[in-house]
Parts: sequence; structure tokens; C-alpha cells
Amino acid sequence: MTSVAAYAAPAPKAPLERTTIERRAVGEFDVLIDIKFAGICHSDIHQVREGWGKAIFPMVPGHEIAGIVAEVGSGVTKYAVGDRVGVGCMVDSCRECDNCKAGLQQYCDQRPTMTYNGIGKDGRPTYGGYSQKIVVDENYVVRIPDGLALDVAAPLLCAGITTYSPLKHWNAGPGKKVAVVGFGGLGHVGVKIAHALGAEVTVLSQSLRKKDDGLKLGADHYHATSDPKTFEDLKGTFDLILNTVSAPLDFAAFLSLLRTDGAMVNVGLPEEPVQIVLQSLFGNRRSVSSSSIGGIPETQEMLDFCAEHNLGAEIELIGASEINDAYERVLASDVRYRFVIDTATI
Ligand code: NAP
Ligand code: ZN
Ligand code: ZN
Repeated sequence: MTSVAAYAAPAPKAPLERTTIERRAVGEFDVLIDIKFAGICHSDIHQVREGWGKAIFPMVPGHEIAGIVAEVGSGVTKYAVGDRVGVGCMVDSCRECDNCKAGLQQYCDQRPTMTYNGIGKDGRPTYGGYSQKIVVDENYVVRIPDGLALDVAAPLLCAGITTYSPLKHWNAGPGKKVAVVGFGGLGHVGVKIAHALGAEVTVLSQSLRKKDDGLKLGADHYHATSDPKTFEDLKGTFDLILNTVSAPLDFAAFLSLLRTDGAMVNVGLPEEPVQIVLQSLFGNRRSVSSSSIGGIPETQEMLDFCAEHNLGAEIELIGASEINDAYERVLASDVRYRFVIDTATI
């Protein structure tokens, strides 16, 4: 066991504060990572506030982890000391079910072991990236290509894969009209990736406040959803709508923007139950779906794609003492566009 400095919420909704946690000894197939940067995902806030249900406390959030390998177990073959690596939302899974075998560990039949707010195979709670070191089985670690700086790569471990996976699955590419709803952490990365895949990209944001950034980062069009005219003008337009919003929406209104056979894929995970009215799908054989992060092989593919396209997150680098203020700003949709913690300040 090693003591490691971390930032934790001691109880639901409590402010995060400095603490120390124990990391397990490096096992045969484990990698010890010196964490350099950790992104703040809105999911961290949902969980600290128990917005998705009962959670485990103290909680060390953080599943957008970038760092350097500091030690490897005797059986590790994929990584060596000094390698640049990342860890996302999962640190283990059953490895035997059809989903795990297909590289879709996020849909593991036994449910994957989440990076934090989970219980590891050793029966102990997992602690995430708002900390200086983490020990992870090498099979749940990915490589950050040299071309990507670690700070802008960190958010790709969740925001990147969560948008890349559905964009690929629903064939975003040349000739396809893709709308990204919500221009926050996930949304802005989704826009960059959809643009790099060759799709025609529209941002649907609450206001036009961030329009200049949206167009600069790869959107072809940018509309305010607070303006009813947006829904009249764009009726029947999109092949794919990627909804990254953390709160419930007027789904019937957004579904009306799909063309025939279009799909609305929801990656935002609101705290309240969401109602979708079947009748809003009939008009044009529309479908509504969801997607959860991505598997380990696809996470690596995404990082390689992002490096190839010189694509990282737009970040605001903060010290650990600013985490609580950053949470408030995320909740107020005042983020440009991902807070990243410099873990040296913990
Ligand atoms: P974020 O940075 O807060 O971005 C969410 C954006 O949604 C905001 O910037 C805002 O964009 C828009 N928004 C917020 N409240 C709204 C409201 N009441 N009505 C309409 N629009 C609103 O959050 P994030 O980190 O990108 O995460 C977004 C959601 O995805 C969260 O629920 C998170 O838990 C979930 N998530 C899911 C997965 C998955 O695997 N499926 C993975 C990661 C995160 P505008 O200012 O542009 O309107
Ligand atoms: Zn996340
Ligand atoms: Zn499995």
C-alpha cells in the first residue's frame, strides 16, 4: 500500500478537500501511474451530489486521467516506465462475457469496475484521478500518443471517447449532417471530432454566447435553442443528433429536427427521469438511442485519431483548491470548455 495525496468529497454534496488515500501495491499486471492532469467531467458533479443515486464516500472523483508510468509489475508487457498513458472511466471488467471479449468493456455483463465510486475486485472502493498516483491493470490503461500534450489529452479519456464512439457507430462523416446539442465539455470535443470525421456540424446551444468559439472549433453552423425559429428552420435536417446535455430537454422538439431514418443519440445523463413520446418518432422512422463511453480498444483508436488530427480539448487549467469553484461554474454552463486539474497542486 502507498499513501497518496488526493482531493475527496467526504460526504454527499460536501465541498472537496485535501486528503490522503491508500493505493494497492503494484501487482503482477499493474501499472503505477504518476497522474499529471485530471479533467473535471460533469459526471463527477452528478456523483458527488448523489444525483444518480446513492454513492460511496469519501469520493475521489476523476476519470479523465493523464500521466506517466512510474512502475510496472513483473508481468506487464504493454507499458514501460516513462510511457505517457491515460485512464478513463473503467479500471476493470469481467473480461469473459461477450461484450468484454468484443472490446465493449463498458457494456460488461457484470458491469465494469468504475474508476471511482465503484468497488474493485479486491472488495475495496475505487478512487479516481483527483490524486497524484493510481494503480491500474495494464489492460485498462491506454497510450497517449506523443503528438498530444497530456493536459489537453486528459479530457479525451471521457469526453473524447463518449463522443467519438457514437459518432463512429452512427457513421458521422462526409455527406452527413450532425447536430451536437450542448457546447460544454463533451459538446466541444464532439464538434471537433465530428468535423475531423468530415461531417457537416451544427451546434445547438442554449444561446449564441459561444458562437465564435463553436465556429472556430469546427462547427459549420451554430443556433440558439432558446429561439423558437431554430426549430422551424432546422426541421427535418439532421442525420444524427448527439445530445450532450446534462439536464432533460424537450425531446419532441429535438426529434422533429431529424430527417428520415435520423437518430438522436443521448450521452448526457440527467438526474431526473426523462420522458420521450413515441409519437414523435413515427413521422420519419426516427430512432432514439444512447451510448456509454467506449471500450478500451476504441479509446485507444480515438486517442490515435485525435493525435493524427492534432485535436485536444480546450482547457482551463486549475489548481486543486479551485475544484469547488469549478464545479459551480460547470453547473452554471460557464466552462470553456473543460476544467483540468494540475495534480501537482494537490
Ligand atoms: P458540461 O460541460 O456541463 O456540458 C453540458 C452542456 O449542456 C452545457 O455546457 C450547456 O451547453 C448544456 N446545458 C446545461 N444545462 C442545460 C439545460 N438545463 N438546458 C439545456 N442545455 C443545458 O457537461 P459534460 O461534462 O459535457 O457532460 C454532459 C453530460 O454527459 C452529463 O450529464 C454527464 O454526466 C454526461 N456524460 C455521459 C457519459 C456517457 O458515457 N454517456 C460520459 C460522460 C459524461 P450550452 O451552454 O451550449 O447550452
Ligand atoms: Zn466523464
Ligand atoms: Zn464482461
